[in-house]
Amino acid sequence: MEPKKDYYEVLEVPRDADAKTIKRAFLKKARKLHPDVSDAPDAEERFKEVNEAYSVLSDDQKRANYDRYGDPNGPAGFGSDYVDVSDIFGGGGFGFGDIFDSFFGGGAGRAAGQARTRGRDMGIRLTVTLEEAAAGCHKTVAYTRLAPCEDCGGTGAAEGGKMHTCERCHGTGRVVEVQRTIFGQMQTQTTCPACGGQGQVIDHPCETCEGQGRTPSREKVEVQVPAGVHSGQTLTVEGKGEAGLRGDTCGNLVVSIEVEESDRFERRGDDLYCTVRVDSLQAIVGATVTIDGIMEGERVTVEVPAGCQFGQQVVVERKGMPRMGMIARGNLVAVVQVETPRDLTQKQLLDVAALVAQRALGEDAAAERDLEEAAEREGFSPSAENAAEHFAKERWHAPKNPFRSRR
Ligand SMILES: [Zn+2]
Ligand SMILES: [Zn+2]
Repeated sequence: MEPKKDYYEVLEVPRDADAKTIKRAFLKKARKLHPDVSDAPDAEERFKEVNEAYSVLSDDQKRANYDRYGDPNGPAGFGSDYVDVSDIFGGGGFGFGDIFDSFFGGGAGRAAGQARTRGRDMGIRLTVTLEEAAAGCHKTVAYTRLAPCEDCGGTGAAEGGKMHTCERCHGTGRVVEVQRTIFGQMQTQTTCPACGGQGQVIDHPCETCEGQGRTPSREKVEVQVPAGVHSGQTLTVEGKGEAGLRGDTCGNLVVSIEVEESDRFERRGDDLYCTVRVDSLQAIVGATVTIDGIMEGERVTVEVPAGCQFGQQVVVERKGMPRMGMIARGNLVAVVQVETPRDLTQKQLLDVAALVAQRALGEDAAAERDLEEAAEREGFSPSAENAAEHFAKERWHAPKNPFRSRR
């Protein structure tokens, strides 16, 4: 068999293409290759390929699995048989406790009168911290399910008890009733009342499970949460949902991940935003700030550039969240907060004032005039140092601005 073509190559899109690009590429190809339109001999096959590629790449979970494992269903026994829980619940959020009070799956599509015997899928919510989501983690989830009965091995029959075909419905699980109406005879099919639609009855049912083959049980399941996981993504643990009736297939456990918000970082996609504080003098000359990263023990160096403004963003590449299924990481974006220092010594204040005065002398003729007037009045020479002292006095002992107030 020919190896499967890469989905990205099929659609001719880059691996980091966004949803819009993927959709556009798909529509373009689909229009060209549609079997009703194209005469090419391989059009139908290629159309199928394009369809398949799009169905995977347009689904975030499948695409993530494909990126990570090369298979949209994920590795066997984990993440496979993906169920979009939110779809099943009509897009609703998970408003209910740790286990959904309703089960899902299984019921749809079965014929009337035929009882469902396969166990239903169950959903459970698992909350992880942002740090756990970054590193990936092992978690044990505990929940209650109908598990195969241990006393009868799930068969529902007591020791020596036997299953036999229901005599009433001859194993079909359905009985046909004939009614006479004014329109003539009408036939209706209903569930067999003798066997409850199972087609089989047990002569000595297991007492523990009353012949059901399953009993409520507190279960613990280990799940491996992949690094880079996002809220709303689900992991499927096969066979850990509701047990089937009398040994029929168990449903799956669908674990919906919820990533907690962090005090330190705000996650946007795979990027992490945080705040770093520098004082206004550091902002002027630039500063190196070291902070704790998202990974355990990780130190991240943020280079605040000279002349940094309040709210300016400094990007540290590849120090954000890991991209699920890839070695790559998002970026860390440090938002700089500039704080005015209030603990300068008198000497430091004068130094800064000297700087302010120098800049004022250079830039503001009015200030220069002010200074000259003040110098004449108070008898000091208008040097930068003297000016600094003057302004420092003016500024910190009087609320007036010496550059603007005296015109
Ligand atoms: Zn039993
Ligand atoms: Zn029956």
